Amino acid sequence: MMTNEEMQTAREHIIEISRQLHDIGLLVRTWGNISCRVDDDHFLITPSGIKYEDLTPEMIVLVKISDLSHEGDVTPSSEKAVHAVCYKARKETQFIIHTHQVYASCAGTLGLKKVLTYFEDDEDVVIPVAPYALPGTQKLAENVEMTVKKFPEINGFIMANHGTICLGGNSNEAFYEAEKMEVACNNFLIDVCKTDMHHGVIVGFNSHLEGDEIVYDIPDTPERVKNIHKEIYKKRPDVKYIVHNKSAAVMTVSRRANHMRPLLDDFAQLIGYSVKVPSNEYGKDGQNFHNIKKHVNAVFALNDGAYCLGSTEDDALAVADVLDKGCIAHIAVMRHGEGHYLSLFESIKMNRHYRKSYSKLADIKK
Ligand SMILES: [Zn+2]
Repeated sequence: MMTNEEMQTAREHIIEISRQLHDIGLLVRTWGNISCRVDDDHFLITPSGIKYEDLTPEMIVLVKISDLSHEGDVTPSSEKAVHAVCYKARKETQFIIHTHQVYASCAGTLGLKKVLTYFEDDEDVVIPVAPYALPGTQKLAENVEMTVKKFPEINGFIMANHGTICLGGNSNEAFYEAEKMEVACNNFLIDVCKTDMHHGVIVGFNSHLEGDEIVYDIPDTPERVKNIHKEIYKKRPDVKYIVHNKSAAVMTVSRRANHMRPLLDDFAQLIGYSVKVPSNEYGKDGQNFHNIKKHVNAVFALNDGAYCLGSTEDDALAVADVLDKGCIAHIAVMRHGEGHYLSLFESIKMNRHYRKSYSKLADIKK
């Protein structure tokens, strides 16, 4: 067992690594989690539902590998079982990073058992994909365990339709694995799926509410666009911020009438499960028409990107970011010719669960 001083250092180190991963974009918002082995039967892990910017050492939770019990009042990451099976399967593993990084997550939606790709010029990379199960479930931990045991030489894995799990003898090794996987998976998407896309948000016309008044970031926002904003605020009283995302991937998806079935867990959770690109801007009666629905946080405009909705600016930006990743996955699956979509049942379940736990979290912070 570590001394108290060593435990404190380990807690601070986990935060340091999470900030570094956050800075280079491999971790966003509250998604993903990081852990460090303490001894044969314990690890320290980041808590559930707290942003990386807000982490303090006291929030890093000590979890017992054998029964997943934990010390203190802070709830550990809901993916603690995944970490536990990895520490159990790999005695040499000291540090684990789980991310929802963009290219690896997208490569994990294609329905492949392994992603065969390369890193830099000459290093062949094999990335096994653990079969899908709902996040936070024992089934998911079992699927990861089976895959980690099957490939004893490999330290970087994809969790299908979800993210990655990277193992290391120390934090540097796990970190390097996550970085390498992202480059290697982008190489795969470029070569095999012909999907060469930068991830991010390219802002078009944003707005927010101040009282009842709509304030547009760009004063000469066209009337056509203003009408969409007005319609959204009218139909969705919970929305206070709209981020118009015109990134390459979102633009590409917006060019054709399309139904975006969720390919990634965070898409189902944050954006929703019935996202459609309308076939035109006008309904049967000639009125303005957009697919504005309760609990669907992205509204596509034909050939003009998508409006991303949130009750705060931060939420709307998170929707814009997750939508871009979802669009890259969507395009990759289309060009690859096959993929594994989440079922409607799974998507609805995750969406409800996320909204419930997120609103609870917001209540605690008030
Ligand atoms: Zn996750």
